[in-house]
Amino acid sequence: CGIVGILGKHEVAPQLVESLRRLEYRGYDSAGIATVHDGHLDRRRAMGKLVNLSDLLVHQPLAGKSGIGHTRWATHGVPSTDNAHPHRSGPVAVVHNGIIENYKELRAEVTAAGLEPKTETDTETIALLTDHLMQGGLGPVEAAMACIDKLEGAFALAFLFDGEEDLMVAARKGSPLAVGHGEGEMYVGSDAIALAPLTPHITYLEEGDRAVLTREGATIRDGKGRLVNREMRTVQMDA
Ligand code: GLU
Repeated sequence: CGIVGILGKHEVAPQLVESLRRLEYRGYDSAGIATVHDGHLDRRRAMGKLVNLSDLLVHQPLAGKSGIGHTRWATHGVPSTDNAHPHRSGPVAVVHNGIIENYKELRAEVTAAGLEPKTETDTETIALLTDHLMQGGLGPVEAAMACIDKLEGAFALAFLFDGEEDLMVAARKGSPLAVGHGEGEMYVGSDAIALAPLTPHITYLEEGDRAVLTREGATIRDGKGRLVNREMRTVQMDA
C-alpha cells in the first residue's frame, strides 16, 4: 500500500500512476487518484492492478496539475471499487494508509450530524469529519488539523480540497511519509523511491508531524502544533 501527492506544473495523473507503480512492491488490492482541475475535485478508482486504473484513465481521463494517489491494502471493508481511496465527502478527498482505531465513534458523530457514510472503510470517516468541520465554518487546513487531532491509530494521510489547486495537507503517525521538494512543485510520498523520478530532495516527516504544502514549500508542525524544522536530505536513487 502507498500514498503519493503532487502539486505540480504538468498533468499529474500519469505522474501519480508512475509513483504508485514504484510502490507496488508493498502489495495492494485496488488503486485510485484524485485531482483538482479548474477548481473541480474529481477521482478515479479501480480494483486490482494499476493497469486497470491506467486503462480507466484512458477512457475517463482526469485532468489537473494537483493530485493525490493511493494503493490500498484493505483492513476495514472488502477490496472493492467503492472502498478504494481516495475517499470523498463534499469538498474533501483523502488517501490513507494504516488503521483508524476510533472510526466507529467518529462515524457515529458525523452520522448524528446528518452526514452519510457510503463505504465500510475507516478512512471515509476522515473525509466525513473534515467535511463536517468545514460545514461548521473552518477553513480546509484548520478542518484537516482538527480532524487529525481526533484520530487514534496509525496513519499516513494526504488531503486535497475542491476549489484549492495550490494546497495539500499531509500527516503521519505510525506510518512513514516523506515530503519532496521540486522547483515550484511539491510532493508527498510513502517513501523516497516513489518520488525518485520527481526529486531527490526529501524531508522525512517525524512521528506526529503534519505538513501544509503549496507549490512554494511546506510548513511542518509537530503533533503539539509547534512549528518545526525538519532536515532536507538529498536521496540519490535510480530514477
Ligand atoms: N484502513 C484503510 C482501508 O482499509 C487503509 C488501508 C491501507 O493502508 O491501504 O481502506
